[in-house]
Amino acid sequence: MAIQLPRFLQWFRSAPVLQSAPIDPKGVYPDPGLKDLILFVTDRCNMRCDHCMFWRRVDNPGEEMTLQQLERIAHTTPALRTLAITGGEPFLRKDLNQIVEIFFRDNQTNHIQVNSNGVLMDRMEELVCQDYALKYKRHLTYQISLDGLEDAHDQLRGAPGSFQKIVNNLKRLVELSKEHPYFRVVVLTNVNKNNYHQIESVAELLWDQMSVEHTYDLVRGLSFSTWNIPQDIQQPEDPRECSLPPIDQLPSILERIKEVNQREGRPFDQVMRQLEIQVGMYLGKKAPFHCLSAGRTLGVIYSDGSVTACEFTTPFAKLDQYDYDLDQLWKSESADQRREQIKGCHCAHTCFVLTSLHEWEEQQAACANRSTTVIDS
Ligand code: SF4
Ligand code: SF4
Repeated sequence: MAIQLPRFLQWFRSAPVLQSAPIDPKGVYPDPGLKDLILFVTDRCNMRCDHCMFWRRVDNPGEEMTLQQLERIAHTTPALRTLAITGGEPFLRKDLNQIVEIFFRDNQTNHIQVNSNGVLMDRMEELVCQDYALKYKRHLTYQISLDGLEDAHDQLRGAPGSFQKIVNNLKRLVELSKEHPYFRVVVLTNVNKNNYHQIESVAELLWDQMSVEHTYDLVRGLSFSTWNIPQDIQQPEDPRECSLPPIDQLPSILERIKEVNQREGRPFDQVMRQLEIQVGMYLGKKAPFHCLSAGRTLGVIYSDGSVTACEFTTPFAKLDQYDYDLDQLWKSESADQRREQIKGCHCAHTCFVLTSLHEWEEQQAACANRSTTVIDS
């Protein structure tokens, strides 16, 4: 039976084991092996949002990978924990249903999340009704963006009438989620300088009136959400116009989001810890962990087949050079070089903060288990 010792004593008792495999308090970079993937399937979009980081591509859409090329990627990648399908607006791709099935079937992806602006209801419903998630016993989530109440949302999105359309579509998606148990819908609200006073009103609409799960993120951009990226690999991804709420408001915004979260029955979870770390960064603090996921367990593929460690750094390779074998590309020399180049930067990009936090907590738990084993013995 394990003896409960004060925390500092536990550390000393486990020291001999830790000496043979030293643990960096900010986490050990994991061996390269993809667990999660962000896949842009198109640059085309039916909106022109002020806060879009990818507006240059949206204004000038490039080529798109074919189904065969995507099939090869699915085959050559280790089974993914999460595939985030994004763009552009993914539902503008007529073959999106097949892309989803390819990853469930050939890659055995556990969870596919489609990020959408939520207006193309027929396409969204058609994919849910294919029931691929049920067929392969996996999970399908739609993450729909709603950035404030009617005026704020429609203005930010440059799409008059889109708020009402999305609200109606969400009602239908909630019904679908009851009929299709492996399907879930969540809403993401990007908090920015124009909508931060609407945090509670958005919650009231989505949760109290419509029972839609929802979460918040802070708007981001290269010039205000990143630090120390080597200049020659910086990707110029800044929103056209939108910016963060005033920095001195961020702590109270965080508290308000926590309150909403608590009230809706989701206590201080990982997303809240991630937001706390992001706000800390904007106030001048570094994260307690390295960026452990970018280029290692998490990667990004753009719709033309170029590959990058994260969206704030430039692509380092193209899949056509590797016959669309993503595993081979991920283990290549250019990938190794890029992993070295990004060891010194940090940023507040949610996907990378959340996955690095997850990796760091897993390492800490493994370390704690090892300590307990030594004490047990
Ligand atoms: S943020 Fe999304 S919906 Fe808006 S323009 Fe960019 S890709 Fe389209
Ligand atoms: S995601 Fe990681 S590698 Fe990319 S800019 Fe942020 S800290 Fe650097």
